[in-house]
Amino acid sequence: MSRRGEILKEMGLAPVWRLRTTAGAEPERAPAETPLSIPADVSRMDWTQLKAKVGGCNDCKLRSGCTQTVFGVGDEQAEWMLVGEAPGQEEDRIGEPFVGQAGRLLDNMLAAISLARGRNVYIANVIKCRPPGNRNPEPDEVARCSPHLLRQIALVRPKLILAMGRFAAQALLGTDASIASLRGRVHRYAGVPLVVTYHPAYLLRTLPDKAKAWSDLLLARKTVAGG
Ligand code: URA
Repeated sequence: MSRRGEILKEMGLAPVWRLRTTAGAEPERAPAETPLSIPADVSRMDWTQLKAKVGGCNDCKLRSGCTQTVFGVGDEQAEWMLVGEAPGQEEDRIGEPFVGQAGRLLDNMLAAISLARGRNVYIANVIKCRPPGNRNPEPDEVARCSPHLLRQIALVRPKLILAMGRFAAQALLGTDASIASLRGRVHRYAGVPLVVTYHPAYLLRTLPDKAKAWSDLLLARKTVAGG
């Protein structure tokens, strides 16, 4: 069996792979969404300035409870930008997004479409500091931290944003709609095509939805390819 076949089998996705490659249905396109705004000072920052700003940030209460800020990782000129929620315990310890169990699943999903973190992929979170006990980020924390992500997106200028989970999707699209209702269409954030999918941590708990995440990845790949 090929490496891709092995990965898909491990993820429980092999039958879906066959199904989707032959189905070829056109994705429905969603109307453009209103972009969020970035404070003027942040909107002018280059990578060095933005990293320093995040590293020294005390804009909300999260910084006092975490080990370190988790800025983002990968190819700063990537076509793919993956956006998660907030660092967990491992990410807080190591200082890199998605290095825990959910990250291993994410790496497998990327490998299944011949991608890898750092190779044409940039990964960041909406929130740069670990919320205590991995609780959900609070609205004021999202509001204060999301400009950093928005500037990262502007600097990377990806061809596609994959919003993983409710917080990423809702922050970028300015909506409180559910993941289920946002999946399956190509949205836009600031003109950049955006596909919504489940968060890898959710997929670890909800195995049947891995197949849906796989179809989201295929939609994303098709969108990057210009389809
Ligand atoms: N979950 C996230 O949303 N981001 C991480 O970096 C790790 C887990």
